Amino acid sequence: MQKINTVDNKRARAIGRALLAWYEKHRRELPWRKSQDPYAVWVSEMMLQQTQVSTVIPYFRSWMERFPNVSALANAEESDVLHAWQGLGYYSRARNLRRAAQQMLQVHDGRVPELVSELLALPGIGPYSAGAIASIAYGHPEPLVDGNVIRVLCRLFALRGDPNRAPLKAAIWEHARELIPKQAAGDFNQSLMELGATVCTPRNPRCKLCPVANHCQALPQGLVDVLPELPARAKPTQVHMVAAVATRGSRVLVTKLRPDAPRWAGMWLFPNAELAASETPEAGVSRALHSSVGLRCEAKALVCVVRHTVTRFRITLDAYRATASGGVAKTLTVSECAWQDPRDLRGLAMPKAHRAIADRLLSEA
Ligand code: SF4
Repeated sequence: MQKINTVDNKRARAIGRALLAWYEKHRRELPWRKSQDPYAVWVSEMMLQQTQVSTVIPYFRSWMERFPNVSALANAEESDVLHAWQGLGYYSRARNLRRAAQQMLQVHDGRVPELVSELLALPGIGPYSAGAIASIAYGHPEPLVDGNVIRVLCRLFALRGDPNRAPLKAAIWEHARELIPKQAAGDFNQSLMELGATVCTPRNPRCKLCPVANHCQALPQGLVDVLPELPARAKPTQVHMVAAVATRGSRVLVTKLRPDAPRWAGMWLFPNAELAASETPEAGVSRALHSSVGLRCEAKALVCVVRHTVTRFRITLDAYRATASGGVAKTLTVSECAWQDPRDLRGLAMPKAHRAIADRLLSEA
């Protein structure tokens, strides 16, 4: 039985032409758009997940210098990969890049594969990334759907309902597939994302500049500000944490998290803990140090306060200088611990909040 398209063919072609012409003229010049190197496309797409373009640009440039191809990444130490990624957050992306590169070396002769089915078999590559690599790097007419595409398509076709749930989720993928002009899949997919990022924005979309305004169904129906109908975000949760900057002479203690740690696995941190209700910061610092490396300490001066956000958690991290006692540090809940000169902390992979503490120590040194 012949499949009936959701989008009328004539309309799909008109939308495709309008978006491609607009993209040709208005697209941002971004470093990963300089070539269609599949490796560069893959790395940039992984970096861009949950992260703004302006943040990604310097990371992408230095990554490509440090790990210019699949083989360089596959053969790199995990600690070097995490070091290159530090500050970008969601570190499982970096670990998955390296693991996927190793599989590409073993299974695909060091090439980024081009079929969606092959891409989906690799760590860290989901339907969005597979569609992006297959279409942008190889020109296959494969759709991709990210937050920008969801917004544009929900408005363009006045699609009601929660776009992250069936049946609308599947319908959006179907719309995205049917719109693709076969000869320009990569540019078309990028034009949809670019429109969402620069014109059809979440707030105050610039409909007067929109190349597909005459096809937009949300506009005449007054639904632009209503769509997409995303569920309300969970309220942020405040979390108060403390970190121990334990010193011995001029050295400070840092610990490396175990490979199975739920967050920041394999990275270096100052011993830390979430404060329990009614626990004093001094007691929390002492508990953090004792539970991770078995040392006692007395918290002294506050080094700095670091505020950061991890998913819906708004974290306040108070770092206290503390003189450690109790013998040799043991690896109780961590995989390694080391007394380091603060200057040598630069070479360790640390998450952003702990890097901020290290930077403060360096500025005081
Ligand atoms: Fe988005 Fe406005 Fe364009 Fe519709 S007309 S697709 S709401 S920017």
